[in-house]
Amino acid sequence: MEFTYDEWKARAAALRFRNELYIRGAFVPSASGQRFETVNPGNGEVLTDVARGGAEDIDRAVKAARAAFEDGRWSRKTPAQRKEVLLKLAALIRENIPELALLDTLDMGKTITDSSTVDAPGSAHFFQWHAEAIDKLYDEVAPTGGRDLALIRRVPLGVIGAVVPWNFPLDMATWKLAPALAAGNSVVLKPAEQSPLSALMLAELASAAGLPDGVLNVVPGFGEDAGEALGRHPDVDCLAFTGSTAVGKMFQRYAGESNMKQVWLETGGKSPNLIFADADLDAAADMAALGIFFNQGEVCSANARLLVQASIKDEMIDRMRKRAMSIKVGDPLDPASTMGALVDRTHTDRVMGFVDRAKRDARLVCGGERMTVMGSDAYVAPTIFDQVRPEHEIAREEVFGPVLAVQTFEDEDEAIRIANDTVYGLAASVWTTDLGRALSVSDRLVAGTVSVNTVDALSALTPFGGMKQSGFGRDLSLHSFDKYSALKTTWIKY
Ligand code: NAD
Repeated sequence: MEFTYDEWKARAAALRFRNELYIRGAFVPSASGQRFETVNPGNGEVLTDVARGGAEDIDRAVKAARAAFEDGRWSRKTPAQRKEVLLKLAALIRENIPELALLDTLDMGKTITDSSTVDAPGSAHFFQWHAEAIDKLYDEVAPTGGRDLALIRRVPLGVIGAVVPWNFPLDMATWKLAPALAAGNSVVLKPAEQSPLSALMLAELASAAGLPDGVLNVVPGFGEDAGEALGRHPDVDCLAFTGSTAVGKMFQRYAGESNMKQVWLETGGKSPNLIFADADLDAAADMAALGIFFNQGEVCSANARLLVQASIKDEMIDRMRKRAMSIKVGDPLDPASTMGALVDRTHTDRVMGFVDRAKRDARLVCGGERMTVMGSDAYVAPTIFDQVRPEHEIAREEVFGPVLAVQTFEDEDEAIRIANDTVYGLAASVWTTDLGRALSVSDRLVAGTVSVNTVDALSALTPFGGMKQSGFGRDLSLHSFDKYSALKTTWIKY
């Protein structure tokens, strides 16, 4: 996306915001008439005010989704017909990459380079991938023999509630919507209150692609009202959540206290990146920097703990410091910026709280400061702490900002012990040129994805999700369809 800074600014000024709820194929106000402001953290200015959905709106949206599901306008289309619509949606997303990218950048502060080359193209790709997959999945016939025919078929679940965070607004919504819709379900999506705008545009594009009314409904609103109402709704069959571990646990409670809907959780992380002395240290440093500073560190699978073999610690820290210092923090709309703003001031306060407390525990290598850009102080300098001990808060808690904690280890056993000493199990990385060690260490790391000689390996081809308190259920790959379908047996005697 080759636009200059001035061109992006001009496009941003001309943006049209969809800022109502999207229910039954139309933009509508909330039942209460309440609205909330969504702020551009890049400059602190209000972008627009958005209809604030509550329990009544969630109920309207669920009823619309249920009606659409029951009359079969989408659920009984053939997989090939659903594929055609979702491929059209993928094409429309591609045509609208600049606008979708701007919405995410303005809403939550990520750089326009990332949103226009990673997030928005990624959304198109994931819709395309799941669309193309859905008419290639065969069902089963059980080996009963005799005069019996037992069909085992995947059937859509019904109404899916999806609740997503703000760090990759378009892509986190896509990871839920693409498989859920391809599988024939109806969806009610609640985007994060910090970043509702791209999801509303996505709903409009889906409608233009031919998705029937009521199949996709988007209800912006706050977690404690719209989110909880969706989690507790008695007519939602499945709740797919991405967000913090604390809120993930609430969804388990909501389900248990309501209709026992299925709950799938993609939650927090504190992923370790293990660097052994035989690794290619330059490559490891390049990717370790990406692993923690990409997207301002607001990445669930960010490699927030750097575990370095003691003999190379000084060399590695020196390389990491240079990489951190070369990052250009600035206006997210400026293509020259390589790090943008954090999502809002509240989150920046939280990140700085971790940084300030860590200054007492550990040695600050670089960063450690809040920055002001264009009148907004929602920026944090890329920060590295050394001499972090396993019991320090910075080694245990998810910061969700550009803050790296460096720890050292002597040997493989100690590396694995430190790496697994966490309640999380989302991702891990290992750097070594010894293939045997790469495999044995990978086997012993408790994580949904282990990347060897890279960080955060991720693709539509492979499942993504966590172990332990990073959640359960997998997004992406053919396994994502498991979350949004039930296995149904039809046994025929003849
Ligand atoms: P969050 O848990 O605060 O919010 C996520 C969503 O839950 C939002 O839509 C929010 O409105 C809703 N919510 C908040 N409180 C709620 C409540 N009481 N009841 C119902 N819904 C509620 O998380 P966040 O701050 O938006 O995002 C950051 C978190 O997301 C981090 O912990 C990060 O690790 C996690 N995350 C995980 C993955 C993954 O795939 N594992 C991916 C991205 C982000």
